Amino acid sequence: MPELPEVETTRLGILPHVKQQKILQVKVHQPQLRWSIPQTLSEDLPGKVINTVQRRGKYLLFDVSESKQPAYVLIHLGMSGSLRIAQVDEARRKHDHVEIMLSQQRVLRYHDPRRFGCVLWSTQDPQQHPLLAKLGVEPLTREFNAKYLYQCARRRSMALKPFIMQSSVVVGVGNIYAAEALFLAGLDPRRAAKQVTLEEYQRLVQAIKKVLRAAIRQGGTTLRDFISAKGEPGYFQQRLNVYGRAQQACKVCATPLCSVTQAQRSTVFCPQCQG
Ligand SMILES: [Zn+2]
Repeated sequence: MPELPEVETTRLGILPHVKQQKILQVKVHQPQLRWSIPQTLSEDLPGKVINTVQRRGKYLLFDVSESKQPAYVLIHLGMSGSLRIAQVDEARRKHDHVEIMLSQQRVLRYHDPRRFGCVLWSTQDPQQHPLLAKLGVEPLTREFNAKYLYQCARRRSMALKPFIMQSSVVVGVGNIYAAEALFLAGLDPRRAAKQVTLEEYQRLVQAIKKVLRAAIRQGGTTLRDFISAKGEPGYFQQRLNVYGRAQQACKVCATPLCSVTQAQRSTVFCPQCQG
């Protein structure tokens, strides 16, 4: 599943190819995604220029605003979505549901076998869109700091790992990154978020930023895949310390890693290193 680093890598991969490009035509081959693709998308988008592509959480925002009239295409990759730049004469693959034809014989293709993603159209400030308005802070900004997390934890009675995975608190800390960050910070994922100290949150914030930045850096090596003819773009395997390694030896102390279920998600941790 594309997590925040993959979405950011997607943004960086396609941006140079779509920025300042004029949209010539939009072809919707399968409108039934998580939500139906609005019909107005293919009517209103042609003729517009893509000013830039931003990211908020795991949403990509294609800014096609004209003279202060906001207009955005919101894309979420869901469970299995990807975006790719192709030449118009390259055959469309199965599950390429949307094509945005650009100048210079290029086309942006939205591919999504499981169809849990979405392609939406907004003529208002996208930050006020119902899907985005309630999102918590971005993890790679200064607003995401120990004090902020500590304050959020006052009002919640839940364990530490599900707490940092709540998108109303901070966006983009998926299961892999939560588990890895808690390991790096040496914190037990089962502890009550309320009882974690400010100093411990300081360690955790640094660890979360570190694992996300490492993943984005690693994604940088795959950027050219967004325009290559073969293969899927940019989903990368990280060197993982705990995620997916239940019962295996801890890389630091060799203790067998434990696995528990929290909020329907599996959590792997080292009972020795994560006190
Ligand atoms: Zn250990």
